[in-house]
Amino acid sequence: CGIVGYIGQNDTKEILLKGLEKLEYRGYDSAGIATLNDNGVDVFKVKGRIATLREAVDENVHATMGIGHTRWATHGAPSELNAHPHQSTSGRFTIVHNGVIENYTDVQEDYLSGVELKSETDTEIIVQLIEVLYNQMDDVSAAFRKAVELLKGSYAIALIDAENADTIYVAKNKSPLLVGLGDDFNVVSSDSMAMLQVTDQFLELMDKEVVIVQRDGVEIQLLDGTKVEREPFTAELDA
Ligand code: GLU
Repeated sequence: CGIVGYIGQNDTKEILLKGLEKLEYRGYDSAGIATLNDNGVDVFKVKGRIATLREAVDENVHATMGIGHTRWATHGAPSELNAHPHQSTSGRFTIVHNGVIENYTDVQEDYLSGVELKSETDTEIIVQLIEVLYNQMDDVSAAFRKAVELLKGSYAIALIDAENADTIYVAKNKSPLLVGLGDDFNVVSSDSMAMLQVTDQFLELMDKEVVIVQRDGVEIQLLDGTKVEREPFTAELDA
């Protein structure tokens, strides 16, 4: 299972699909991507192979940012419905997640009593929580940090906001996730191998940091919002 993300100048579909193909070795039962352009978010997901996903993706949808996922089901059977990306009730927030949210029943009871869930995944809890927190806080970065603070378990997550085509929000805890750096683009990946197609410069992320990934830069933040500086490393082709 794995995660990819791209925000830049080029058409994102092919970059995401190629990235997911590079992550196939990790094993998966379903796959999906979400892209965002002026017409909003488009989600494509399938049970089965990346080749099947490739056929399901509408080649007429062009976007310069998006996120992708291969799923190894832990909560909810492998199915198109449970495949990622998952969306909040309003459709504003879209997420991909690898790992397991250990306290998802607590989060559901404490924060999501009025929310009707569409899938059987622990992942949907994250994106619904972010929407509930956003409605209280009116600040997407702050809501994302608060969600990361509340979640227990292992996760690598990447979130997009339909109202903001300039940012991918990412975080990790006990699951691998890297941010890759380009000149006028940036990427997200579980494994540098998936994004060596576009860059060999990567930032290591620490648990429970949040990264604001934009076309022209990335900002690492601690959960209190403090910025963190970090030098990238060069990924080796055969690493
Ligand atoms: N726990 C999530 C699910 O079952 C993510 C699984 C994964 O790591 O792919 O959908």
